[in-house]
Amino acid sequence: MELLRNQIPAEVSRITETLTKAGFEAWIVGGCVRDMLLGRRPKDWDITTNATPEQIQGLFENTFYTNDFGTVGIVNEGAEDESVRIVEATPYRTEGKYSDARRPDSVQFSQHIEDDLKRRDFTINALAYNPATQQLLDLYGGIKDTSAGILRAVGEPEERFAEDALRIMRAIRISAELGFSIEEHTKEAMKQCAGQLARISKERIRDEFIRIVNSQKPMDAVILAQNIGILGYIVPELQKGIDIEQNQAHSFDVFEHNLRSLQHAADKGWGFEVRLAALLHDIGKPASRRWSDEKHDWTFHGHEVVGAKIAKKTLENLKFTRETIDTVSTLVRWHMFFSDPDKITLSAVRRIITNVGRDHIENLVKLRICDRIGTGRPKEQPFRLRKYQAMIEQALRDPISVAMLAVNGKDVMDITGEKAGPRLGWMLHALLEEVLDDPARNTKEYLSQKLLDLHTLSDAELIKLGEAGKEKKDAAEAEDIKDIEKKYFVS
Ligand code: ATP
Ligand code: MG
Repeated sequence: MELLRNQIPAEVSRITETLTKAGFEAWIVGGCVRDMLLGRRPKDWDITTNATPEQIQGLFENTFYTNDFGTVGIVNEGAEDESVRIVEATPYRTEGKYSDARRPDSVQFSQHIEDDLKRRDFTINALAYNPATQQLLDLYGGIKDTSAGILRAVGEPEERFAEDALRIMRAIRISAELGFSIEEHTKEAMKQCAGQLARISKERIRDEFIRIVNSQKPMDAVILAQNIGILGYIVPELQKGIDIEQNQAHSFDVFEHNLRSLQHAADKGWGFEVRLAALLHDIGKPASRRWSDEKHDWTFHGHEVVGAKIAKKTLENLKFTRETIDTVSTLVRWHMFFSDPDKITLSAVRRIITNVGRDHIENLVKLRICDRIGTGRPKEQPFRLRKYQAMIEQALRDPISVAMLAVNGKDVMDITGEKAGPRLGWMLHALLEEVLDDPARNTKEYLSQKLLDLHTLSDAELIKLGEAGKEKKDAAEAEDIKDIEKKYFVS
């Protein structure tokens, strides 16, 4: 088990060693042992010990103890590796009865590591490793399940899900993250207990849902949640898209289209907000579907407006932050922004940027790509999309103008004593020409010096220089736009 010991960060070893030297047992336990066996970097490190919370706190300088479950947070301030900044140490616990499928009625400490492993959710999460003795304790076949890629409940599955129904979501989340399959008996019990998820807090459900969406296989996970019977407790509105046939541009029903869009965002490794927006982008379609005799097809007019409202409600219900709710519902609201790039104007593009915000325009384009792939069309970035990106970049970039200069009109007046009037504009444009020739000249010192020269010129001479500056500016603008178009292969 040298292999395991070498993977343990120094900050964590220091803690187990301190406990052991003080005469206590100390095990690294749970998900982090599983992750080490899989060669994955653990997200956090948990230690379990026969020391009491007070005894643990007595051994370390910087600790905190806030919950009712005996967990002591040991702080490694300034550690580079974020996963070890707070290491949790918890006394061996046995859990009392659960009368609410949510929280144990009581928590008791134990002197036996075996008790602690027994209360854990899945065999792969019920492994413990003792760095002092190098023993890997595996009471439930967790090593075998880890290498076979199987998620299996510890003990009697139905009992375990009835104790804490969040475990049903944890099963789906962990299987999505690790690409594991769920053992049949365990899966059956998840179905049996699905209704109990109604009693779990929205915040706990949200946290697991976030991890499902951020996993590599979110589409399979949402389908699994639907088959198990828990999707209705997470995002009920998605279910309305099942069997809702779309128009001829689509190969899939609304439900599958939303999921495929999400999966594409995951395949690209795109961020959470794009993924969530992709999952929800057509959530307004079932409510807006109308048959058109004229077109002999279904229409979904206004589904993005309805959809933005539904998305907002759905995310509020799951207690997402205001920022996430606003961003995602705004993306849903504007996801239909596309129109013919031959006809769309730069000012229309600017309007879209104003609607979604500069920070989200890139995500809107990504959402559009997901939407397209989600219909079953194979090509991601046809010409019109690249053209659109080029226009967005054009709209976003700062224009070339006298505003770029290190001096402004007021500076000119202060430095030269000139009065407000057309001469100021000519002087600034003359400076702009200098700066376009060599951007290094754009300092207050250089330009001030230059201004003193310009100040001595007649109106006629200044007009000439100013006009030359404007021409140079127009040429530079045209050059910039050409560069952008080249970048997107649309010139
Ligand atoms: P990750 O750290 O990647 O989220 P994890 O499995 O380590 O995955 P944690 O929430 O860190 O999940 O929990 C640590 C361990 O605590 C788990 O591996 C498991 O042994 C136990 N555990 C967590 N939640 C539950 C639960 N609801 N029921 C039973 N045991 C649980
Ligand atoms: Mg963990």
